[in-house]
Amino acid sequence: MILGRTPAVGHVAVLHRSAERAEAVARILRSSGHRVTIIEPGRRVVQTIVERTPELLIASMGYSEPPIGGVLRSARQALGADLGVMVLLGLDDPDSLVEADEMIREPLDPGELQLRVGNLLRAQADRRQLNRKLQELLGLYKVSWAFSLAGGATPLFAHLSRQCAEIVKAQKGLVLLFDRDRRQMIGQLDGFGFTREQVQRIRYAVDGEARSRWNFRKNGPLVSNKAQSDTRLMPEMTADLDLHSVLVVPLAAGPRIHGLLLAADRASGAAFNDDDLNVLMAVAGQATVAVENLRLHEELMRANDMLKEYDQIKSEFVAIVAHDFRKPLMAIRGFAELILEEPNLSPETRQEFMKTVISETDGLASLANDTLLITQMETGLLKFRWTEIDLGPFILDAMPLGLSDHSVLLDIPPQFPKIVADPDRLRQVLSNLTTNAVKYSPGGGSITVRCRQRGDDHLVIEVVDHGIGIPEEQIAQLFQKFSRVRSDEHMKIGGTGLGLYICRLIVEGHGGQIWVESEQGKGSVFGLVLPLDARAAQATADKKTEANPALKPGRSS
Ligand code: ADP
Repeated sequence: MILGRTPAVGHVAVLHRSAERAEAVARILRSSGHRVTIIEPGRRVVQTIVERTPELLIASMGYSEPPIGGVLRSARQALGADLGVMVLLGLDDPDSLVEADEMIREPLDPGELQLRVGNLLRAQADRRQLNRKLQELLGLYKVSWAFSLAGGATPLFAHLSRQCAEIVKAQKGLVLLFDRDRRQMIGQLDGFGFTREQVQRIRYAVDGEARSRWNFRKNGPLVSNKAQSDTRLMPEMTADLDLHSVLVVPLAAGPRIHGLLLAADRASGAAFNDDDLNVLMAVAGQATVAVENLRLHEELMRANDMLKEYDQIKSEFVAIVAHDFRKPLMAIRGFAELILEEPNLSPETRQEFMKTVISETDGLASLANDTLLITQMETGLLKFRWTEIDLGPFILDAMPLGLSDHSVLLDIPPQFPKIVADPDRLRQVLSNLTTNAVKYSPGGGSITVRCRQRGDDHLVIEVVDHGIGIPEEQIAQLFQKFSRVRSDEHMKIGGTGLGLYICRLIVEGHGGQIWVESEQGKGSVFGLVLPLDARAAQATADKKTEANPALKPGRSS
């Protein structure tokens, strides 16, 4: 806003039924530097005045086609306080029939006309400026009031779009936001004066054609009164939205652009000017704060949801500690008490009790490790450590030790390509599956681990046993947390139901899948498919998620 601008010269329109007299007035005013437009008498008088948007209209009282009173009223209605009115009274004209800022009686004294027009324009400019300031303040008040009322994105943008239009007397208003991930400018619902469908179609890449037309970060706001042929704007968009004159200002905090505010088309058809732009820029300043607040609010809500989720994980953890940790702890305590307090225990029994204490302690430690690992994976704290692995020796190393009733067979093609995975985690998967194969084949027998390549970039590993198998109806639940097969045969064998869930988290974290095929009483095949290079697969998946956050996997359960 340029304060204190009080021009004594300006744009004056002259309306006189006599072309000769109109020309005489114009000559006097041009000689003192004013820009003068002579309005041709006729039916389009009001429309021409509005189109030319003069600061001052000098009209003769005697003008009657259409009647002067109506012309002045309509012009004032369209241009508001921006238009000053001076009426030329003929010798006999009464001075009380029309409303005007000044009346001057003909014949004119050139010096007096120049002086009074100069003064009127000066007063007019001051009044316009005051009026703008008032409008701006009023608009800003309304806008900030709307922000505090708005309960979320859509009502906020609806208010803002309406205010943005009303403050510059436009018929249309819209907020566009910049989506940083997709690098697109997107129209926000609800727009003012636009249909929902129109707003939903507003979506364009900022790095493409738009940038070569107008870069808001570099070039700032834009006023265009011939929008459809303006090369700075996107032609499909101006045509689709039927825009004729537009104001577009960036919503910016420093160099960072959050979006754009758009106001378009006045009911009066009058053009936008720099004053309108200044007012809209002041609104944009307020709106930027509101948009930033909204973003922070949404981030806070997201953080809040995550905290709730973490809280639930913590509660589950506490429940496990309370339930699953108590049993082995009680056993350890019971046996330790017996060892300490029973003087007559035979050395064999004492050793037996000691062994139980040790194995219960081991079980407890692995339960603590499993729950900790699950918590880390569920909350995304665990980062995989990608390493190149030679699979044959690696699998042999992961096999359970000291098997007397079982034989383990490794079936892997020679020259199997090296793979990239997290060795600690992959070892854990293989060890879990083979330990289960042994555990759930109480009668002994052979266990086979077979590997093969699938396609160019995946491998399949299967662990085959001939044990007790799994009832068909319980297979679907198997990879859930704490899921154990509910049958006497299975429950006789100790376990926590966490191993397969951990396997699933690890395999999925490597970009793979895990499954089981089983027949009760005959045995099971646990299989997994992994990318040969899990690091590369994860990098590709991350890029996709970045491009489309909707693809982000939720917490597994
Ligand atoms: P845990 O063995 O500690 O109970 P897991 O998550 O490793 O936990 O396995 C879940 C359940 O799946 C086991 O309780 C068992 O009922 C069933 N299961 C796993 N592996 C096998 C297998 N090879 N044969 C039969 N049942 C199995």
